[in-house]
Amino acid sequence: MFNSRLDPQQHKDAFHALATEKFDVLVIGGGVTGAGAALDAASRGLRVALVEPRDLAAGTSSRSSKLIHGGLRYLEQYDFRLVREALQEREAMVTSLAPHLVKPVAFLYPLHEKLKDRTYVGAGLALYDVLRGFQRALPWHKHLSQKSVAEIAPSMRQDIVTGAIKYFDAQVDDARHTMMIARTAARHGAIIALGASCESLVRDGKRVVGAVVRNVETNELITVNAGVVVMCAGVWSDELHEKFGLKPGYEVRMSKGAHIVLPGSAIKSEVGIILKTPVSVLFVIPWGDKWIVGTTDTEFDGDRNEPLATRDDIDYILAQANRVLEPQLKYEDIIGVYAGLRPLVSRKADASTTKLSREHTVDRPAAGFVSIAGGKYTTYRVMAQDVIDLGAKELRGEVKKSATDKLPIVGADGYGALVQQVPLIARESGLSETTVVHLLNRYGSLISEILELIEKDSTLAQLLTPELPYIRAEIHYAASHEGARSIEDVVSRRTRLAFEAHDGADFLLEAIADIIAPILNWNSRARAESIKQYKVISESERISARELLPVAEKISS
Ligand SMILES: Cc1cc2nc3c(=O)[nH]c(=O)nc-3n(C[C@H](O)[C@H](O)[C@H](O)COP(=O)(O)OP(=O)(O)OC[C@H]3O[C@@H](n4cnc5c(N)ncnc54)[C@H](O)[C@@H]3O)c2cc1C
Repeated sequence: MFNSRLDPQQHKDAFHALATEKFDVLVIGGGVTGAGAALDAASRGLRVALVEPRDLAAGTSSRSSKLIHGGLRYLEQYDFRLVREALQEREAMVTSLAPHLVKPVAFLYPLHEKLKDRTYVGAGLALYDVLRGFQRALPWHKHLSQKSVAEIAPSMRQDIVTGAIKYFDAQVDDARHTMMIARTAARHGAIIALGASCESLVRDGKRVVGAVVRNVETNELITVNAGVVVMCAGVWSDELHEKFGLKPGYEVRMSKGAHIVLPGSAIKSEVGIILKTPVSVLFVIPWGDKWIVGTTDTEFDGDRNEPLATRDDIDYILAQANRVLEPQLKYEDIIGVYAGLRPLVSRKADASTTKLSREHTVDRPAAGFVSIAGGKYTTYRVMAQDVIDLGAKELRGEVKKSATDKLPIVGADGYGALVQQVPLIARESGLSETTVVHLLNRYGSLISEILELIEKDSTLAQLLTPELPYIRAEIHYAASHEGARSIEDVVSRRTRLAFEAHDGADFLLEAIADIIAPILNWNSRARAESIKQYKVISESERISARELLPVAEKISS
């Protein structure tokens, strides 16, 4: 009946629907919270539209550490309820909701003082394992001797690490996952409008009854009618509340977190590593055949749209990682860098409408308008359920209960069986088994749609570049099924070429444009504009990351 495909025709239809239909719920924001809210509402049987000015996950939701975790550091703050909730979400995602995208990942927690550390950290990790309850998809933690650590992680400094505890969490490509949630919402009838910015609210007396949405490409203004407007705007919340003339009970502070990406050869370890730092923790996270290392935590008041990592951020990450790693990581090892902004909520002194939990906050600053901010990626589903529960009270008639705890996202259905059929799929399709596994981990059972493209055009089976596992069909599919509308969407979020390929993937832009231009109906000007727009972003990222290089290095480079 409904279709999860986000293609140029769907894009056009979405704007038509915004202008002509009456929605129960209008969601502002296409991050994981907004996509989750759209899915939650649509799967309750409500008529839903989501508007996002840039791209799905263009904000914080493509820039996280990509961990689906309980948050070990909350244990130290005795916030057991929060940890348990996140661990239950982790379990559900790994086993049933998104097993194709959310994968277990092992970490070592290095120990320095033999007895004291082992007792304290061991007790913490035992509690971490216990808090998830009876469902145990991920293995139990394990104590390791110094000798075992040397075997598993030869890069760990033997002179200061006396042993370790190995434990499990999970990881996800956040931008892909958010996009797949939005596609699932579309499959349940939600209208997903990208390039659609909410500019103001429409009121009937004091009640909000819709919003004015701008088509970013044409500048056309559209009045959207909705029973309730649900704002999930992350670090844009304060700005939008003010623009809409609303006084919510909370504020959102921005905290910047940066990551660096390194080649696999930079660190010799079979598993990830978590390090306690003076202010928080640092993760060394396996990412395919690479490593992601981060993060930082600094106040931010710059451009929300493009937070940039600075040389200070990078130096901090290298210094913290180098406390336990040998050989030491160097600036020259870095392939890519990215930074994101945490939406941290705090209650306003005179707040009466706000329900503030330790992590996320829901609010109803006006009749017909609810909002949510804060939280973490891992608990997006619970956050979405909370805000739609609150929004449902604004609607006439009975609204069904949330169904998302049992609703797998697109691609999850049948994934378990397909994993067992890898050799068969490889034989049938002519792809290598490595490529089939790569595709299954990105599309799940939607792999069939990629294979259909290859059947029609066998050149799409070719690798985009020998240095990375992406095939050309994936670039095509990004524009024909996944809502990508620019080079940046493809390079930064549908794939992660922006930080996985050298030079920010500049050498691939023409080849990518060749594939997507006919799907997006681009003329030569539109094509050149999209390439240029991406180059501006990648260049400013490079400049920011190098800004504090010693003068001698700048001159020689
Ligand atoms: C460095 C870092 C590391 C993190 N690591 C983890 C982790 O490992 N695990 C974890 O669980 N969590 C992690 N988090 C937290 C997690 O990433 C965020 O909590 C989550 O992504 C926030 O999602 P969101 O949808 O609320 O916000 P966003 O993803 O920012 O979405 C808000 C959206 O609103 C849109 N918007 C803005 N203005 C308008 C408008 N006028 N009209 C319509 N839409 C608008 C924006 O374009 C944006 O897409 C991390 C965060 C950071 C910064």
